[in-house]
Amino acid sequence: MSESVLTPRETQDRLFVKIALKSRQNDIISGVQRHLVFASFCELFIELITFVKGHEQALTSVVISLKSNSPENQLLARLSQTQYGELLSRLRPIHLKSGQVVHEPRAPVEYAYFPVSGVLSAVVVLSTGNMIEVATVGREGATGLPAFVDLQESPHRVFCQIPGEALRIEVNQLQKASLAEGPFRKMLFSYQAAFFYQVSQSVACNGTHHLEERCCRWLLMTHDRVDADEIELTHEFLAAMLGVRGSSVNEARQVRRRKGLIDYERGKIVVRDRQGMEEASCECYQAVINEYDRLLK
Ligand SMILES: [Zn+2]
Repeated sequence: MSESVLTPRETQDRLFVKIALKSRQNDIISGVQRHLVFASFCELFIELITFVKGHEQALTSVVISLKSNSPENQLLARLSQTQYGELLSRLRPIHLKSGQVVHEPRAPVEYAYFPVSGVLSAVVVLSTGNMIEVATVGREGATGLPAFVDLQESPHRVFCQIPGEALRIEVNQLQKASLAEGPFRKMLFSYQAAFFYQVSQSVACNGTHHLEERCCRWLLMTHDRVDADEIELTHEFLAAMLGVRGSSVNEARQVRRRKGLIDYERGKIVVRDRQGMEEASCECYQAVINEYDRLLK
């Protein structure tokens, strides 16, 4: 997999540029999405003017949107620009594919991952091969952090549930960066405590709460991280995450569907009534959010 190395200066100046050229029929006849440093934005602009001149009759609009490339992982976003700059040369961007395993249980942790989009699942794998989810991680968190407190192995299998982008750092680099007392080290400890709270709450939830409430909790946590009402998901996958049979999840889903909370369309769950789902979820969804806010405020 190819990786690009960015210096702090380059990254501070990087922009996400999205350009769409629309025809009279409102079709997009040319679109481009690029990450680029500010200097090359001028070159892209000249390219764009040349293209527009050749298509003046056909074009009705040119839409350009710019977004700065500041860290969107919420842990990294808590660091000051100086602290983030110091860490940046050790972080590498990586795309995570659906199903990609980033940590195996009882195997050495090579990298810690700070997601900026997508969702990862931490699961316990039993000797029968069955697994049950104990935590999910999105842009509010990170994986592989046990290595930072000198445990070299992951207690869980962690894999990508919904594809997205992440920044990853080699574990020895993470340990070096966190040796000194300071905000980064404090943040890692606070996040570890928040993650442990989520795992504990999942144990209580899996053992006591009704399947329908747990489904709602799971969907709410995922909905928070995908920035869209459509979640690509089969009920077999959801059943595996909740540690139950597929038919049970199907029944629970039918109930929620009848209540108008969700729809299900060919491998996609569509959230229709977010407020209703919050009311139908068990207390665990809000309890975990409250604890993250308390520890990481
Ligand atoms: Zn619960």
